[in-house]
Amino acid sequence: MGEDMKILVLNAGSSSLKYQLMDSNTEDVLTQGLVERIGVKGKADHSWTIGDKKSSENLSLANHEEALQAAIAALSAEDGGVIQDLEDISAVGHRVVHGGEYFSESVAIDEDVLEKLDEVSPLAPLHNPAAVSCIRASRALMPEVTQVAAFDTAYHQSIPPEAHHYPLPHELYEKYKVRRYGFHGNSHRYVAQRAAELVGIPLRDLKIISCHLGNGASIAAIRNGVSVDTSMGFTPLEGLMMGTRTGSIDPAIVTFLMREEGLSPDELDNLMNKKSGLLGVSGISSDLRDVLDAQESGDESAKLANDMYAYCIKRFIGQYMAVLGGLDVIVMTAGVGENSPVMRAAALSGLEHWGIAVDPWRNFGRNKTIKNGLEGEFKVSAQGSRVKVLVVPTNEELMIARDTKALL
Ligand code: ADP
Repeated sequence: MGEDMKILVLNAGSSSLKYQLMDSNTEDVLTQGLVERIGVKGKADHSWTIGDKKSSENLSLANHEEALQAAIAALSAEDGGVIQDLEDISAVGHRVVHGGEYFSESVAIDEDVLEKLDEVSPLAPLHNPAAVSCIRASRALMPEVTQVAAFDTAYHQSIPPEAHHYPLPHELYEKYKVRRYGFHGNSHRYVAQRAAELVGIPLRDLKIISCHLGNGASIAAIRNGVSVDTSMGFTPLEGLMMGTRTGSIDPAIVTFLMREEGLSPDELDNLMNKKSGLLGVSGISSDLRDVLDAQESGDESAKLANDMYAYCIKRFIGQYMAVLGGLDVIVMTAGVGENSPVMRAAALSGLEHWGIAVDPWRNFGRNKTIKNGLEGEFKVSAQGSRVKVLVVPTNEELMIARDTKALL
């Protein structure tokens, strides 16, 4: 067990590849890197960090296979690399967005898994094909090495039928598997585990609401360690208002706009995913920092956008308290959840009646308010608040690395 074990975690986007090499015994990150603009001729950017040393290069990379080769070249560079050769990599964990109904946990990849991944690709047309091509490239480069797929959807497969079905004709579920899948599963799972450790109560005894508030945002209701509902649905568009996504709206608005504005399905898709949310309402930015700044300077649309964003979170917290039949912990994570005391306070205001009391000093202070906390972890709830509110920086890569190690 004590032997040196290095796990490579890969996260392929449509034109990007994020990677981390982790020592799976110490869970130290040895290297992390990012390749962007894959497939844009002569324009790919590769940046990586080993220890304190940051490096970057500009390359021409046709596909994910070439991007992976560039990553491996950086890892094994004679000058300052962290591996001698590929044999030093014990296993590879791949983040895969969609596992459809096939996968309720991470799996070791074989031909059968690859076939199923191809089969569910239409459910995540922007994300899954990139992951699949990255998996194939990685298997070609390291045929002897265990490769694991860790899905964003897997954790939410436990959501019961009354919460995962949509009230559409049932044959559409059978034909296309139209149902709620949910996303950010590795993040919700990680922060829920950390929350249990931090409050010192076993996860199986807790009712948790986990708020992942990044550019994409979702909330999960977690009972006894199991996801029982989540705000994202068939796609990541449902649920909370996000940076550029609408979140849930009256579905009849879609057909109304198609008729009135003459928009095509793709144009509407683009409108609802890329031009709405904080960006659409404020007309300023999808970045909450910008919108909060604009509100400070008196911008009314910015204020409306921020108010809507907070209101939406509050509404889901209320729903999920009802779903869970009580609540022990709220965890906040990702860019907004970790860094915006203003949004945390707004979303959690007025909930004292339900046992949720935020301590303004703790919320804004970031001083050490928690025993055994890791960097960035702190308690936001006031002393005596029945529901504990915690900030826990997410770590999806660590979750993937742990699953990968467990499957070795
Ligand atoms: P992604 O979903 O792309 O991983 P992140 O989790 O990094 O996104 O979250 C990005 C968002 O976090 C940005 O839109 C930004 O508005 C928000 N954010 C980051 N830092 C702060 C901050 N200090 N205050 C408010 N919002 C912040």
